[in-house]
Amino acid sequence: MIDSFGRSVTYLRLSVTDRCDLRCVYCMAEDMAFLPKADVLSLEELERLAGAFLRLGVRKLRLTGGEPLVRRGIMSLIERLGEHVAAGRLDELTLTTNGTQLAAHAAGLAAAGVRRINVSLDSLDPDMFRRITRAGDLAKVLEGIGAAKDAGLAVKINTVALKGVNEYEIDCLIAWCGERGFDLTLIETMPLGDIGGDRLEQYLPLDAVRRRLETHWTLEPLAFSSGGPARYVRVAETGRKLGFITPLTEHFCDGCNRVRVTCTGTLYPCLGQEDAVDLRGPLRQGESDAALEGAILGAIAHKSKGHDFLIDHDHQRPALARHMNTTGG
Ligand code: SAM
Ligand code: SF4
Repeated sequence: MIDSFGRSVTYLRLSVTDRCDLRCVYCMAEDMAFLPKADVLSLEELERLAGAFLRLGVRKLRLTGGEPLVRRGIMSLIERLGEHVAAGRLDELTLTTNGTQLAAHAAGLAAAGVRRINVSLDSLDPDMFRRITRAGDLAKVLEGIGAAKDAGLAVKINTVALKGVNEYEIDCLIAWCGERGFDLTLIETMPLGDIGGDRLEQYLPLDAVRRRLETHWTLEPLAFSSGGPARYVRVAETGRKLGFITPLTEHFCDGCNRVRVTCTGTLYPCLGQEDAVDLRGPLRQGESDAALEGAILGAIAHKSKGHDFLIDHDHQRPALARHMNTTGG
């Protein structure tokens, strides 16, 4: 799958649910209305869709959400997708999770062929964690992360940097990750969906964070690229990688290798644009694999050059109406 700008699409992020057991302040409004179950792809439909992308050249598949591990039956889907890894049709099967259900599932994930996971963790302080997630129990997440480590999964921590909230915990997170052998990626808030609050209040530009970190950590630039939006450095003091995802201060679209599919089967070639193609129709109308693949290829051909997110005093409304839990992070 090569788009009109010559970018090869080899990475699919597939959302398996819009539901979540947390309500992170930058991701959701407090009183979110979730989709009716009938709108959401069944596990069988998700598997067939993933199969079509694999035949078209996808080599890396990330499950996301909402919270992927709250989807009923998700482990059976993961086991079936893991068979593609075992057969060499897929280089990597992974997921992004909030970690609340990891203690129960870490061993199963490893057995299914998952090697690495991203866990979102915005604070190591139980009260702050509860404030950011509006409901979360930090102890449960830490237990889950411990279980993942014990199961042999490589863990990368994702932290959304929030002005005046976890801004001064970042040093603590760097040290904590270093002690445990985890890489860490810092993320700028993106203007997705109405969250019932002011985006400008949350937005913390990572270029300023990086300058501050450089006064007391040795950050060695790395050539390493995941083909994604993160720019990486190595923290000399811990030996671990530190990534910066800066959609607002630095465009990263030129090397984009990925597309996203929502849990309702809508393919978004770009996270930051409204262009979308419905794949649930072809899936449910009994169309052939060739027709499904044709719909995917048509969308890839129109993948846009880049996003145009902006947060400043003139742009405090969401750039896009859909929330991150709908598109999948
Ligand atoms: N529930 C899982 C989790 O939290 O890891 C997976 C889905 S979540 C939408 C995926 C990632 O998106 C998380 O790391 C989360 O912090 C991030 N995220 C959510 N809303 C965001 C926003 N508005 N801006 C930047 N990152 C966001
Ligand atoms: Fe749930 Fe993840 Fe969104 Fe937090 S970021 S509310 S854990 S989907």
